[in-house]
Amino acid sequence: MARTTDTIAALATPAGTAAIALIRISGPDTKTLAGAVLGAPPAARSATRGDYADLSGCLVDDVLFTLFAGPNSYTGEDTLEISCHGSPFIAQRILEDLFARGCRPAEPGEFTRRAFLNGRMDLSQAEAVMDLIHARSERALAAAHRQLRGALGRHLRTLSDGTLDALARVEAYIDFPDEDLPPEDLAALRSGLEAVRDGTRRLLATHHYGDLLREGAKTVIAGEPNAGKSSLLNRLLGRDRAIVSAEPGTTRDYLEDSVVIGPHCLRLIDTAGLNPAPAPLEKLGIDKSFERIAEADLLLVVFDATRPTPPFVGGLDLDPARAVIVLNKADLLKGAAVAAPPAGIDAVEVSALTGAGIEDLRALLVEKADAFQAVAGEDAVAINARHAHALAQANECLAAALQKLGGRPASELLASDLRGALEAFGEIAGRIDNERVLDRLFSSFCIGK
Ligand code: GDP
Repeated sequence: MARTTDTIAALATPAGTAAIALIRISGPDTKTLAGAVLGAPPAARSATRGDYADLSGCLVDDVLFTLFAGPNSYTGEDTLEISCHGSPFIAQRILEDLFARGCRPAEPGEFTRRAFLNGRMDLSQAEAVMDLIHARSERALAAAHRQLRGALGRHLRTLSDGTLDALARVEAYIDFPDEDLPPEDLAALRSGLEAVRDGTRRLLATHHYGDLLREGAKTVIAGEPNAGKSSLLNRLLGRDRAIVSAEPGTTRDYLEDSVVIGPHCLRLIDTAGLNPAPAPLEKLGIDKSFERIAEADLLLVVFDATRPTPPFVGGLDLDPARAVIVLNKADLLKGAAVAAPPAGIDAVEVSALTGAGIEDLRALLVEKADAFQAVAGEDAVAINARHAHALAQANECLAAALQKLGGRPASELLASDLRGALEAFGEIAGRIDNERVLDRLFSSFCIGK
């Protein structure tokens, strides 16, 4: 692992020409370095204008220096931000000069890693920084802010405290193996552990919601060839992503793209047409379509409204909470739609060609996504895969402990289950001494973050 005694530097803004580029420096030599460039160290937390001249004295740019003195900085160390004109050449010249003055290039996520190592945030908050940067919808942004402000940490503290309480009770009896736990202690132990287990399961249940926030709700567009699925995808995206063709069977595989509708991010997935008499290659595409339909969070079943209801609909197990029938080609209708949507499933008439009815469809999608993406209060959290893995482990340990309480509990074994649960809770906040886990986690960050 990279040493934290080094002073690191990196470009924090995207490469390319822009109004401003920001270079970030963090580590023990930061103040000395800033003093050497500016003539005197800049005052902390205020912008100081100055010339950036390289080691050979050559003027590179007119820049702003902002010093954040440790430990009250993002990383917990002395940190300097240099805002220069947004030219990749200038930024590169400054970076090269910083490296010549003894800094080394920062690794991906190294600033945030230092913030974690210096106790400025726990691991779940470091992950929230990533979620914040990648948030694509209002809901995702709100969830990232909650996690960054420690909502998940608070839940975990409650669970850890409950487990610690239980452990204390159990350990009090370890020294007296021949004595039974008094019934009132046993009852308190059981109810305390059940509360922790239930809390763990509630957190675990937010995993799917977390996926929805981070990846977008899987919104599958299915229907017969030529019903207008690709046209609908393009219309919802507001651009031509899929090939639209009068020739049936043009979408053999599935296409995917994201769109923000209301506060939600939806992953729109266009699938191969459900042709009742497919050619062999088409058959493969159709099998995939059914796989996508089965895993959809939202399902748009597209009908050509001018034609009779397609036969495949009878074979679909449509869930009213997630399915919408889209009666497309409404512009061609003289009167009522010929196709009849199944009873109990929301239906909306649209024209993917003219855009008529699309707003109604969007409103319906927001309503449906709201129903399963409801945000439950200030402290609501949505966990990620790493958290889910640890919580599942804690859940197993707690279940084992509760099972042991059913018989004549052997305190040592019970205590070891409880320690297992505590360890798993601890992993989420980052009581981890596993460098590889940290390497993997922070390597998915960008350089400069
Ligand atoms: P897919 O096979 O279901 O993906 O269907 P496409 O989007 O490729 O469309 C098939 C044909 O129907 C194309 O010729 C489209 O221009 C046409 N089409 C799609 N939507 C509409 C619509 O709302 N109205 C009309 N009149 N034609 C449409």
